[in-house]
Amino acid sequence: MRSEEIFNAEQKFQLATYSKLDLAIVRGSGSWVWTADNEKYLDLYGGHAVCAVGHSHPAVVKAISEQAGKLMFYSNVVYSDVRAKAAEKLASIAPAPLLKAFFCNSGTEANENAMRIARLATGRSNIVSFAKGFHGRTADSISATFLGKYRTLGEPNVPGHAEAQFGDVDSMDAVIDAETAGVIIEPIQSMAGVREASPEFFKCLRARCHEVGAVLIFDEVQTGVGRTGSWFFAGSEAAGIVPDIISLAKSLGSGVPVGACLVSDELTKAIKENDLGTTFGGGMIAMAAVNATIEVIEREDLLASAKNVELWVRNACSHNRTVKAVHGKGCLLGIEFDGSARPFYTRLLEAKIITGMSSDPNVLRLLPPLSVTESEIQLFAEVLNG
Ligand code: PLP
Repeated sequence: MRSEEIFNAEQKFQLATYSKLDLAIVRGSGSWVWTADNEKYLDLYGGHAVCAVGHSHPAVVKAISEQAGKLMFYSNVVYSDVRAKAAEKLASIAPAPLLKAFFCNSGTEANENAMRIARLATGRSNIVSFAKGFHGRTADSISATFLGKYRTLGEPNVPGHAEAQFGDVDSMDAVIDAETAGVIIEPIQSMAGVREASPEFFKCLRARCHEVGAVLIFDEVQTGVGRTGSWFFAGSEAAGIVPDIISLAKSLGSGVPVGACLVSDELTKAIKENDLGTTFGGGMIAMAAVNATIEVIEREDLLASAKNVELWVRNACSHNRTVKAVHGKGCLLGIEFDGSARPFYTRLLEAKIITGMSSDPNVLRLLPPLSVTESEIQLFAEVLNG
């Protein structure tokens, strides 16, 4: 099928939800994707922050193909070698005491279950989240999403959600109280324009949750699995603390849908049979993808690569007088311009480089594979500064 035919078919038969690029992508390798008309694009958006190890990494492809030939699926009512390995692998890279995994299928589902665990563990119902954070589009997650139109779209919202200001200790202290079951935070607010908070803020947040007995949840759907140059934002130097639950999705399966909650040992005592569940969570293909993804990040030292990417991008931006600031870490970067970022986004796309906008019109987002090379970032720099 040619691109034009694909556009027509999707427009005719798929609900028009996302505002789409005029690209029909049919193939990918590393940091590159190809259209149906065989045009090649540099993907600095990482397939929507999903392709940490690059598109169709051969090791991931091999792992899921071999698994598909052995056993595609059996649910959690049986034990599985590949699931056991994935849970053990995640425990080996997670900061202590987050030693147990619950597997599901997406970011919003991971957050829904994280909030449920907080309620089960505390016997309370209220959830606090932060202005401009994004947590997903199902009922509880969208009710925790105080960003633009999203929360309103989810009306009638789940009761008991309250909003604090991101990075503001006084606001957080005032909103989190002895009735709070859980506090969910996107530790770097990606969609809002890659907004960061200080380690001091995270320290106070951890202390306040301990003080009132609330469960602290880091939504690491974007920051997790190496994107910021450490396995998780939790436990990194930038956080300085470890929450009680981390939720994950996006990069975890390199494109095979999978989400997870990493849960502290203490909290697992509150979870009994049938409190949580999903048919497809922990399925064999997804687990093979998780194992292969983590192994590739380890083998190719992609945590170090992500840190280098940040340096290359910061260096490229230092030559551009319209760049006001570069926010974020590793391969989650927001370039803030003096004015609208849109002309840069458009110019890059015309040069066949895919980047992303954010809900801040002045911020352009880069979410490339952690394996993107210096010469690929140089191509970006030439167009940005050209
Ligand atoms: N949390 C964050 C921080 C996200 O960026 C997203 C998706 O963009 C989600 C949750 C929801 O994930 P999903 O689209 O897999 O449900």
